[in-house]
Amino acid sequence: MIRTYIGLGSNLADPAAQLANAVKALQQLPSSQWVGLSSLYTSDSILPGQPRYTNAVAALDTHLAPLALLDALQAIENAQGRLRAERWGPRTLDLDVLLYGDKVIDEPRLRVPHPEMQARAFVLYPLAELVPEAYALSDGRTLRELLQACPFIGLERLGPPQ
Ligand code: ATP
Ligand code: CA
Ligand code: CA
Repeated sequence: MIRTYIGLGSNLADPAAQLANAVKALQQLPSSQWVGLSSLYTSDSILPGQPRYTNAVAALDTHLAPLALLDALQAIENAQGRLRAERWGPRTLDLDVLLYGDKVIDEPRLRVPHPEMQARAFVLYPLAELVPEAYALSDGRTLRELLQACPFIGLERLGPPQ
């Protein structure tokens, strides 16, 4: 089994309910075992004029290969009404593969570790609830260093997962 971390995000159609539904779907992924969920966090959209986002990070152990995992995540997004209109547009559900073991993947459909995670407080702070701060990425930077470079600004933590 490979431990993988999935970033969850939503800013449409009752984001907390979207995330709760996504968690149920992730708990039923084939060949996988649920590990846990971070707290929920809200933050303003990076792009102006969009509703506020709700984000969390989930951990699971899986036998699914990386692209099979991505296919499964996109099927969950589609099942929850994700429309792919504009890049970074508002969405009912976004599921990103943040980490897949310590594997580095650089393919057109899948880049892991997620290339933007280091700059995103709404990813790093929930991730830090599930991963020790001493955890090092393949380039040697620890989660602690990434957190120090990415202040907890504009985030609101909604408390522990239900
Ligand atoms: P960002 O990747 O900056 O968070 P986004 O999540 O809004 O942006 P999407 O429109 O959801 O981007 O996805 C665009 C494509 O990114 C997907 O079709 C997928 O093939 C690709 N992709 C590359 N790396 C990953 C990854 N680690 N997790 C999920 N999708 C990825
Ligand atoms: Ca994303
Ligand atoms: Ca995505």
